[in-house]
This record gives sequence, structure tokens and C-alpha cells, in this order.
Amino acid sequence: MTAIDAPNTTVQDHRRAASISALLAGYLLTAAYGVILVDRLCAAPQTLGLFGLSLHLGRLHIPALAATRVLLVIPAILTAELCLVGWRQSSLYRLTAGGDASSRTDLAYFVCVHLQAMGRLNELLTLGVALISGLWLHQALRNLTGLDLSIAAWPLAAQVGVFALIYSFCDYWSHRLDHTALFWPLHRYHHAATEFCVINSARVHPAIFTAVLINAAPIALIAVSPEAVIDAGLYFTALRFLIHSRLDADFGWLGRWLIQSPRRHRLHHIRDMSQPIAHYSLAPIWDRLFGTWREDPDHVVEIGVATPYRHGTWIGPDLWRDYCEFWRGIAAPAVRLLRRRRAGLA
Ligand SMILES: [Zn+2]
Ligand SMILES: [Zn+2]
Repeated sequence: MTAIDAPNTTVQDHRRAASISALLAGYLLTAAYGVILVDRLCAAPQTLGLFGLSLHLGRLHIPALAATRVLLVIPAILTAELCLVGWRQSSLYRLTAGGDASSRTDLAYFVCVHLQAMGRLNELLTLGVALISGLWLHQALRNLTGLDLSIAAWPLAAQVGVFALIYSFCDYWSHRLDHTALFWPLHRYHHAATEFCVINSARVHPAIFTAVLINAAPIALIAVSPEAVIDAGLYFTALRFLIHSRLDADFGWLGRWLIQSPRRHRLHHIRDMSQPIAHYSLAPIWDRLFGTWREDPDHVVEIGVATPYRHGTWIGPDLWRDYCEFWRGIAAPAVRLLRRRRAGLA
């Protein structure tokens, strides 16, 4: 396992990397303690009296558990990457001392996501499509067909396995849709990054309509317990961060069949799109089944898109340009038809 570029480290770099690793390790220990506390609360839900109100902690434990576990994931991957590739090649270096305009976009976007700004924009720009609930769809399907495909009573590990399989299948097809001419102006924002950085994973246009296939369809098909959704979600969140890391790893046999690797995802982000694009899936088995697997990946490729992006901290103009381009693409057939009719009448 190596870094993407040849390392050029100094003693000062090693010291900086060691102190950042120590800070992250301290953070990880604290966060792990938080997870244990939340887990204990889950095991014994209780009611808290507050200003005459009765707050049932049992109802709070699911979002709290999800949040604390996700808080563990990003620092863990940043720490592992830093230890394996060194300071100068790490995402942390790109996000602090050695960043360019593209990594400033990654950081600005990541901050907006975690301030909940992108969630509200997502609901607004998708005209409410993002609000479609998988559970609501599941109930509607059950009422319509009389079939209840719920596996919530199965052992947790089995639920997570089945849910992960269905989720990765939906994610594969949602990603294939993203690369069609219609949805590409929105997905292009993710591909516009000129270099990988762990948090590049979160840089997804807030108007991404196809995300409904990932967020709602798996639960609509099979109902699982909230704990199973959290565990599978945690795995895929970690994997998405990992495949955008600066590790040049292909994960061997696992990477060829079950787990997407950073090297192959880098190939998916290739700037030269003259060849068919490969490696859409988070689980390579879907790429193999549907003909988008490519053997013998190149090690290093130039990533990005041909369309110019201004990048930088002010992310508004790029997001708006891509959103307008998407709607122009939707309206184009109607505009062409109108023009032909007008030309015919003239
Ligand atoms: Zn893509
Ligand atoms: Zn990506």
C-alpha cells in the first residue's frame, strides 16, 4: 500500500504528522467513550424530567447512536491515511497547509453538510423528492400487495448483510443513472475534484435526485430494524470516505469482488472519458454482473472533468451553474419540439 505520489517528507513533517496522529487518537478515545455511554443509554432507556416535560431517552438513542458512530469514522480514516502515506501526501495536509482551490471546495462543502445547510437545500432543490420516506413506501406497498417483506425480526447480522446487499445494488443503479446525460450535470460536481481527499466523498450536489433510490428504495423493499440501518449505513459511510482517500490500495481479492477500493474508485474518476467509465459500485460484484468492471487498473490517473469549475470556498456559483444546466437538459426536448413547430408554421 503506497501513497498516490512519491513522498517528499522532512523531519518537521514527521513531527507534525505525529502530533496530529496523537490529537486524532485522543479524539478517537473520547468519541469511543461517548459511543459506550450512548450504548448504555440504549440498553436501559429512561425518562428524563426537564422543566415539567418528560423526555423519553429511548426515542433519542437512535439518532444519537448514529451521530456518535459517524463522528468516529472520519477521524479514524484520516488517522489511518496519515500513518500510511505520511503528512505531505495526506488529506489533512491538503485540507490545511497544502490545499488548492478544489480542496477548499471540499472543506467548505463538508462544513455546510455538517451545519445541516445541505440537507435543507436538498429538500428544496429536489422539490421535495428527497423527503420521500422508505418506510412510507414500504407501508404503501404492503397495503397494495398484501406482502410484507420485513426481516426486522431476524438476527442483527443477517439483517445488516441482506440490507447491505440491496443497498449496494440500489447504489450501483443510482450511480449509473448519475452518469446519463440527464443527471450528469449534477453528478459532475462530485467528479470535479481535481485530487482525492477523504472528505471529497461528501461533495455531492444537493439537488441529486437519484439519491432517492439509495435512501428510500432499500427500506421500501425490505423493512429492517433501525439498528441494522445504522450499522449498514456506518459501513457504507466509512467505505465512501475510504475510497476517496489518498491510499493507492486495491484490497486484493476483496477489492475484486466485495469491497470497492481507492485505486479503482480513482479510475472511476478518470478525467479522460473517451473510454467507457468503469467501477460504479461500492461492491464490485455488481460491476462484474452488469459489465462495468475493468481488469488491471492503472495506478495513477488524472482525475476531474473537462468542464471548467471555479472551485474555492465560495461554492454557490458552481452549484447554481450545474443546477441550471440540469433543468436546461430537462427542458431541451420541449424547447426543440416548440422550435420545430414554429419552423413548420413559418
Ligand atoms: Zn460517478
Ligand atoms: Zn467518488
